[in-house]
Amino acid sequence: MSIVKGLKTIEAVMNKKTYDSDAPKTRWLRLEEGQSVKIRFANELDEDSPNYDSTRDLAIVVAEHTNPNDYKRKAVCTAEDEGRCFGCEMAQKEPKAGWRARNRFYTNLIVDDGMESPYVAVWSQGLGKQSAVHTLLEYTSDTGSISNLTWKCKRQGTGTDTTYVLLPTAPDAEPFDWSPHELFNLEKVVREVPYAEQESFYLGFDLPTAASSASSTTNINW
Ligand SMILES: [Zn+2]
Repeated sequence: MSIVKGLKTIEAVMNKKTYDSDAPKTRWLRLEEGQSVKIRFANELDEDSPNYDSTRDLAIVVAEHTNPNDYKRKAVCTAEDEGRCFGCEMAQKEPKAGWRARNRFYTNLIVDDGMESPYVAVWSQGLGKQSAVHTLLEYTSDTGSISNLTWKCKRQGTGTDTTYVLLPTAPDAEPFDWSPHELFNLEKVVREVPYAEQESFYLGFDLPTAASSASSTTNINW
């Protein structure tokens, strides 16, 4: 069994957003309750889409575990890649405690909030019944694309009752100019923790960076 010892190592594990220090810091879509913005999906859902572009690539869905007592301790399930996964072990040990892996959807967006010039942000959504991802799936099965139009996106509710309403507008008359926008690499946006460090990541000491974790509270459990 691998153990992470020493405060420095533990802090390093907790502070690492991803295990690639070259990756730019992710900007997340953050809306207030009732706030409505214009968004454009930068990643299509399928390579067969007429608007699929390999440089923009596809949205991803990732199986993740979350410590049921601390939503900030969330990481990718490694059962397939590493053959071992601390989250899966916890789910087996305590089947009712909420450790089982859940799928999450990640995509890049161009956000126009009417305040600053349009910017790229990542949006992550669970796939539960209330998830706005169902709207996207339905729309793309009808039209084949989600990236060739502006959507209105409105946040409703707070905390675990947060939902997002997506309303499509008319498809673009002219092709959208993607050139000013650099997207995040979604595979680096998700948090991958090696098995050896998972136990201390999920169960370790209190987060040392109180300030940065407080600022992420609006980004929880959508
Ligand atoms: Zn797992």
